[in-house]
Amino acid sequence: MTLNRTLRQLSNARDRRDPEIYDYSPDGDFDPPPGTRYMTLAEAQSLECNLCGQCCGSEEADLIGFPLRQYTFGGIPQHQWRSMNGGQPLIIPLTPSGVARAWRPADANNDRPPAFRCEALQHHPDGTTRCGLWQSRRPSPCDAFPVKPKYYPSHLERGAYILLNTQYQRLCTWVDVLVCPDDSVILKWRKRDGTLSRRLTAEQRKYVARVFREAYRDVFSKDGSLPLREWRKVRAEEGAWR
Ligand code: SF4
Ligand code: SF4
Repeated sequence: MTLNRTLRQLSNARDRRDPEIYDYSPDGDFDPPPGTRYMTLAEAQSLECNLCGQCCGSEEADLIGFPLRQYTFGGIPQHQWRSMNGGQPLIIPLTPSGVARAWRPADANNDRPPAFRCEALQHHPDGTTRCGLWQSRRPSPCDAFPVKPKYYPSHLERGAYILLNTQYQRLCTWVDVLVCPDDSVILKWRKRDGTLSRRLTAEQRKYVARVFREAYRDVFSKDGSLPLREWRKVRAEEGAWR
């Protein structure tokens, strides 16, 4: 393991101990995790990938030697994208302890994506990574992550806020980003770095927390996501600050 990968493991270890990052609960009166940034889709899409590789394998984003958790690649279909890897599985499911295992039908379930490894991920001596398939066809989740799912523009137009699915990619450029509709009042309440201003009133903070909770549910809860039309009701509160 290179020095940089070792440092990344130390960073993963520190993050794993931070309950606010992983154990945020949308129920109750919780504030969004500290450091959350608020931006438009165009702003989010203008950021650059830092090549950390954490979206390309569970072991890149978690602590080797500890049980691996679920990651954001999504379900793995039975074909495992063999056609992109000379007939061999490209995306390989892992046991919680990080051992490659055979595909099974439950791996295709998008609601319970398994830990995985990708055969195309290349590690460079400087600690960065590269996708060996970058210039050719890649699995569709790779092209969408984390700011290009096709439905994002239409959901934002209809008033939804979208929490990017980067919860476990703590080194990702886009970690802890809440994408806001272009006319969101929250965009007026942030500092240059995208985090919230300290000068917000208690009511404004309460509203941001409510929005974050609903967006969190949309991404991470299996049965509690908000129907799109309900976002209009949530956003009715914004009228008071326009
Ligand atoms: S195909 Fe490339 S982008 Fe997709 S998971 Fe593998 S290394 Fe990452
Ligand atoms: S986790 Fe984010 S920053 Fe890291 S390689 Fe993936 S998209 Fe790029």
